[in-house]
Amino acid sequence: MDERALKELGLLEVSRWYEVDGGAAASSTGVAIATEGAEHAALGADWERLRELVADCRACGLCKQRKQAVFGVGAEAGPWLFVGEGPGADEDEQGEPFVGQAGKLLDNMLAAIGCRRGQDTYIANVVKCRPPGNRTPTAEEAAACAPFLDRQIELVAPKLIVALGKSAVVRLLGTDASVASLRGRVHRYRGIPVVVTYHPAYLLRSLPEKAKAWEDLLFARRTMGAAVAGDPL
Ligand code: URA
Repeated sequence: MDERALKELGLLEVSRWYEVDGGAAASSTGVAIATEGAEHAALGADWERLRELVADCRACGLCKQRKQAVFGVGAEAGPWLFVGEGPGADEDEQGEPFVGQAGKLLDNMLAAIGCRRGQDTYIANVVKCRPPGNRTPTAEEAAACAPFLDRQIELVAPKLIVALGKSAVVRLLGTDASVASLRGRVHRYRGIPVVVTYHPAYLLRSLPEKAKAWEDLLFARRTMGAAVAGDPL
């Protein structure tokens, strides 16, 4: 993909940060942290240090209006990792991802495939601070927060990542393709299998898509089974 096309998709900044050569390459291999320039403090950080870094982060404008940064929650050794977009008002208040209405739905979705946050599932967001008015985080904000999510993923070392909605897809797969077009296939982020489904907040507004999300969860569960068994995906 050339620079103009990437810019039009709003991916140019992100792709520069990650040295991604367009969506096609990234969607099969996942993206990697740029190695040029100063090393980010999150590289190699343990959980405790990472929490401190996130809590004190001022890397983008989202820090100005947050009540607190929302780190992530759950089973620090996976094997499931669900990645959402960013905190909303409830999460900003309580300091935990997915505690509002969308969070209730996510918990139900997890229960449907036999998962529970904290038991075998880690939940994280693309950005750790609430975008004002719950808008979609910008590419710059996602890029500023990327080393934190990357390190969380390294530490959890999940067997499977479920990307919840478009922001997670753009961030993890480096593509602007629609969620609808990416469902039902196994993608990769740095070699880790990734399954794509709709964001719970979108499902709250669009009931017909719930059936599709259910299919996606069943697909995710089958994929996890194969990943654990070491079967080809
Ligand atoms: N939506 C998200 O993407 N993340 C949250 O933590 C809450 C709502």
